[in-house]
Amino acid sequence: MFRETLSYYLQLRKSQWWPREKLLEFQWKKAKAIIDHAYENVPFYQEKFDKAGIKPSDIRSLSDLTQVPPSTKQELRLAFPGRWLAKNYLASECVEAATSGSTGAPLAFFLDRRSLAWRFALNMRTLEFSTYRPPQKLFQVAPPLSGKIAAGKAGVIDVLLRRLTVSPFEADVDSKFKRLIDYKPSAIVGYTSYIKALADIAGSRALKIPTIMTTSETLLDTTRAQLAEAFGGQVFDQYGSVETGRSAGECIAGGYHINLEGVLLEIVGPTGEPAKPGESGEVLLTHLMNYATPFIRYRLEDTASFAPDLPCGCGRELPSLGSIGGRLNDVIVTPRGRKIIPQFFSRTIREITGLREFQVMQSSPETINLLYVAGPDLDESARRQVEEKFARELSDVKLTWKRVNNIAKINGKHRYIVSLDRPPAP
Ligand SMILES: [Zn+2]
Repeated sequence: MFRETLSYYLQLRKSQWWPREKLLEFQWKKAKAIIDHAYENVPFYQEKFDKAGIKPSDIRSLSDLTQVPPSTKQELRLAFPGRWLAKNYLASECVEAATSGSTGAPLAFFLDRRSLAWRFALNMRTLEFSTYRPPQKLFQVAPPLSGKIAAGKAGVIDVLLRRLTVSPFEADVDSKFKRLIDYKPSAIVGYTSYIKALADIAGSRALKIPTIMTTSETLLDTTRAQLAEAFGGQVFDQYGSVETGRSAGECIAGGYHINLEGVLLEIVGPTGEPAKPGESGEVLLTHLMNYATPFIRYRLEDTASFAPDLPCGCGRELPSLGSIGGRLNDVIVTPRGRKIIPQFFSRTIREITGLREFQVMQSSPETINLLYVAGPDLDESARRQVEEKFARELSDVKLTWKRVNNIAKINGKHRYIVSLDRPPAP
């Protein structure tokens, strides 16, 4: 797979400089191919197309895509794996992944090996929208997918690429900070909340990390300023999801370029009409490479807007996002000053079968309530095991589990971690 990743990477390094017309033509060909494949091989999409009374041959241009009804997480959850896995792919040849469950129950899906190689290549290309250039040293807080690759192989790749990878799923951010200091990287990349937790520890120390890249969660302006100051570098935000990989990233000239060669990102208004630049709307993603469990016009449950279509100072003709109303999550600080990142909770809790939704709510420095909604199939013994694990790891707080019928949304979003720093507005 290394060779495949390298070949995609070299291809993507070239295509980022293609003129817009060529990029769009490339994107259209790939979109058309995956639509044809999905109709032919994926029962879920065949039913969806048939129900809407359309055939792949009706989709003759990108603008015809609006005829395809969007897919929701819930629909795909019900279709997995039987009606969603393509008939010409074997589950055993794919990597199984899942969303964190930050907007409800997790969604499991498969990644075929080709799309995995593509994903790694696109991630590397997106890093280079910033001031980072390989083989500069990179400190990365790895996304869940990297854990799926054999540890030995990942270690070799890290050495080759001069990367230090740390897991975001351990509560101990302080020891990760020490490793960061010792490693002296030129760039750092990871979940926004995790990078912020590292910056909180840095305090007023004068670190010199020129490139800081944040992913997966909303980057507030105040956090951007804090990170720039704490690390002494420039901050570049990236937009992505576990389901579809890196979809966009900021460049040195202030653009927020969409990875057109890998995703077809639409923004639509309340009645499904395409949003104009500057207009906020719902994000629909079509992933152009994952043939095992295709995502076609997938409702990511995020809002965003396109930036005005003006030339970017970096020279790329990849279009840009304007605002992103993504996910906002908190770091919890315990009485002893330990910083617990959101993924510490989400990663473990999502392993409990039948636990539909949860919210971690800190009500005082030493009191944390864990609210959860149970389905009829809740694995109570798994839940108790997690309860014991948390009690061991978070010995300086009183963690109370409360079963509830539903979890209220905060500003229309399911915020799964609510810390004392940022209680919900009344
Ligand atoms: Zn640019």
